Amino acid sequence: MKVALFDDFQLGMVQEDTIYELGPLLFGKNPPGCCPMVELIRNYEQYQKIMERGIDSMPSRPLSEVRLRQPVSRPGKIVAAPVNYVSHMKEMNVHHTARGLGFFLKANSSLAGHGEPIVLPAAKAGRRFDHELELAFIIGKTAKKVKAKDAYSYIFGYTGLNDVTLRPDGENEEERCLRKSFDTFTPMGPWIVTSDEIDDPQSLQMELTVNGELRQKTSAREMICGIAELIEIYSHVMTLEPGDIITTGTPDGVSPVYPGDMVKISIDGIGSFSNPVELESPQKES
Ligand code: MN
Repeated sequence: MKVALFDDFQLGMVQEDTIYELGPLLFGKNPPGCCPMVELIRNYEQYQKIMERGIDSMPSRPLSEVRLRQPVSRPGKIVAAPVNYVSHMKEMNVHHTARGLGFFLKANSSLAGHGEPIVLPAAKAGRRFDHELELAFIIGKTAKKVKAKDAYSYIFGYTGLNDVTLRPDGENEEERCLRKSFDTFTPMGPWIVTSDEIDDPQSLQMELTVNGELRQKTSAREMICGIAELIEIYSHVMTLEPGDIITTGTPDGVSPVYPGDMVKISIDGIGSFSNPVELESPQKES
């Protein structure tokens, strides 16, 4: 199943060119106070039964008529793997990988959906900003000290993610979490494909283009720490909760983006999403 958030962060199910509105069926007149996707994930078994019975009564709209949003509007946390592909380790000329470095956190307010601009902060104009093609997954149930062999049962589904990054330049060496947490620096989507529909996530092929030109292309097979190992490492540090987003690192080919660019991520078996790049206008500062 493909589940999405659209328009005013309403919950939807995507089938081909149609989006079905899940909110009225699942929540009636009492929409959840939190992110509706997190509510769906937390009680998925119960809601799945309602969805199977009620699919014919769900209102639907053409997918082209709605605005897709980031598929989790407010996760508890966004956990990101640094240096998790050998090809990226070589291009960055670094010697530590996610196996030793572990993770960094991105602000959950940095999320953006399909079509939403990546806004480069005016205060950092002239610095280098890079795209980072990544496969991300969403935690389905509370995970604490999970062994890699059991890890896949904790995954709700998979999505694409662009870990947009302000690069350090020798003079400016901000922490990773600052450089990657500007508003709109985590485009994600276009939706979540539930884990039952992805036979082997480590075999997924993915690519990123800028203005139609191929910049990054990899198989998830090339990860240094695979998905299961990441869950083992991270869940031994912190409790992973339903709706948490884990993004798995980027391959080589990271390159700068500039205002006017269009960045597109495509992952086989998931889908595509794109984001234009803009420079923040100074008058927007408050
Ligand atoms: Mn990254």
